[in-house]
Amino acid sequence: MNSWKKPTKLKIILLGDSGVGKTSLVKRYHDKDFKELHLSTVGIDLLDKELCIENKLVSLQIWDTAGQERFKGMPSAFYRDTHCCVLVYDVNVLQTFESLDNWHAEFIKMANPITPDKFPFVLMGNKTDVKDGKSRVVEKEKAVEWCNSKGEIVYFETSAKEKINVDEAFLEIARKALSNE
Ligand code: GDP
Ligand code: MG
Repeated sequence: MNSWKKPTKLKIILLGDSGVGKTSLVKRYHDKDFKELHLSTVGIDLLDKELCIENKLVSLQIWDTAGQERFKGMPSAFYRDTHCCVLVYDVNVLQTFESLDNWHAEFIKMANPITPDKFPFVLMGNKTDVKDGKSRVVEKEKAVEWCNSKGEIVYFETSAKEKINVDEAFLEIARKALSNE
């Protein structure tokens, strides 16, 4: 393994309505290797995590919005040179699922990838742990159907709260990003 080499930098961005759990998912994935950088003046949180996949040392640069998604779009630098785009919704809130078309279109417009239909996206349906009071409104089949309608988007059902599927999802995100390097 060429671990003495400089890691391959891969840019990941998270998009989705405010409150769906984007920051919580990144924090859950957080461990002692994490370097955290707050660029709050421009509304972006940047996290850097090194890992080894497919015999390669990679440095995942995870770009998270610092709440700014609620008010206006992110600056174009946020979208530029992204290797994998992660879309997040809350399985208990229909509106957050219905927003996915807009986030997907926004990414394509702003990042302007060479082959939009081949660009690697990963969808996360978060807060699957919520059971009492609120009930789930978006079934897995519906989410998978949406993924298939957009090409080949991989879907994960997650809980940042209970750390369900979080590592698994980020491993796939890293793989997708590496395949788009
Ligand atoms: P963001 O705006 O998309 O970054 O969302 P946040 O990460 O700030 O989370 C919004 C709220 O949802 C916070 O109160 C979190 O504690 C909560 N939250 C995030 N993920 C989960 C989850 O998986 N399950 C539950 N029950 N709550 C969550
Ligand atoms: Mg956030």
